[in-house]
Amino acid sequence: MTLSFDLTAEGARDALRARATPAEKPSLIGLTRAELGAALVASGIVPERQAKMRAQQLWHWMYVRGVSDFAGMFNISKDLRAELDKHFTVARPEIVEEQISSDGTRKWLFRFPPRGAGRPVEIETVYIPEEGRGTLCISSQVGCTLTCSFCHTGTQKLVRNLTSEEILAQLLTARDRLGDFPDRDTPDGAIVPAEGRKVSNVVMMGMGEPLYNFEAVKKALLIASDGDGLSLSKRRITLSTSGVVPEIFRTGEEIGVMLAISLHATNDDLRDLLVPINKKYPLKELIAACRAYPGLSNARRITFEYVMLKDVNDSIEDAKGLIKLLKGIPAKINLIPFNPWPGTNYQCSDWETIEKFADYINNAGYASPIRTPRGRDILAACGQLKSESERMRKVDRLALEAMMIAGHGEA
Ligand code: SAH
Ligand code: SF4
Repeated sequence: MTLSFDLTAEGARDALRARATPAEKPSLIGLTRAELGAALVASGIVPERQAKMRAQQLWHWMYVRGVSDFAGMFNISKDLRAELDKHFTVARPEIVEEQISSDGTRKWLFRFPPRGAGRPVEIETVYIPEEGRGTLCISSQVGCTLTCSFCHTGTQKLVRNLTSEEILAQLLTARDRLGDFPDRDTPDGAIVPAEGRKVSNVVMMGMGEPLYNFEAVKKALLIASDGDGLSLSKRRITLSTSGVVPEIFRTGEEIGVMLAISLHATNDDLRDLLVPINKKYPLKELIAACRAYPGLSNARRITFEYVMLKDVNDSIEDAKGLIKLLKGIPAKINLIPFNPWPGTNYQCSDWETIEKFADYINNAGYASPIRTPRGRDILAACGQLKSESERMRKVDRLALEAMMIAGHGEA
């Protein structure tokens, strides 16, 4: 398939940069309601007795209307708006680049301030429109401390955790760019679901291990699913983990979103090699945590991600092992063709092998979608990104995009 690239025009890029968050002012995005009220009181511009009401007002503007400038908050007095603007910001991050593929998939490269880590950081967010839904793949960290042997992100040093503001900023800015707030127009020619919200689903499957950044991820997802705000259904939010067992129960209990597990192997010897966190939390513990996941049922199944690695984990014996391991767990299995990167020793399984594996799993009664064509398109696309100073290297992006496209949640 051919791709067309609509890189954000120079003029538009300048305009976006101008709107970008000034690093010196704290953002009101990503605070809980209580924190928001407290911040307003602490700044001295809102009296204690008004804190709750003002927090509610701001919440509505930020999360229902998607306003990114205090000036647009019309039911707040001009004076108070000016005071708010002096102390805080609700602006979006800088969009370094926006790419649009001919199939409607969009990728943004966002730049966030250093926040102590020494230099600004850049992360990518991907939007995948499909019939009836539009999925946004969000990052939780810059880089990852874990070292899964097939994942290129794992070879990068962790730069830092993203804040709850930065996690939400990915969703808010994507909705801005898609015209997915009330009274906004969808850009001409944009490919989006025919009806309903343009971003209907969120997956925490970008860069990083979300359960190693639990508090920020929790805060962001609770705000994203707040019924008086962004109002995304928790059933349309999926968090993917490599298996941080102690946080799995809490994810269900405290966040209540759908769970995806990066399984990739069905015995400890192999999983120790592929997903080294397995040495700390072996399969027995991981599977027990899955069985105990709050709210688990046939209507709320766990997604198991399984990357197809040639001659490593792709035999029918492996497929049998997978069925045996997951027995009794309401599950979906996502087969991900491996995305190779320079320097890796792994190869992607042959297509025929993947299909045989998928058939075996299907026959055992599991839905086992294979994610590829669009992912491959995007991989072709990313070589087009211009390389600048701190920008992720192309190979890093390739691996990241493979992950993002790999398993982008259920309707
Ligand atoms: N850190 C979390 C979430 C991000 S990774 C996790 O590991 O679950 C999202 C998915 O992409 C994971 O299942 C991951 O194992 C997979 N993945 C990583 N590198 C890949 C590659 N090179 N090819 C295909 N899938 C990959
Ligand atoms: Fe980190 Fe997930 Fe990559 Fe493993 S697969 S290194 S947990 S991003």
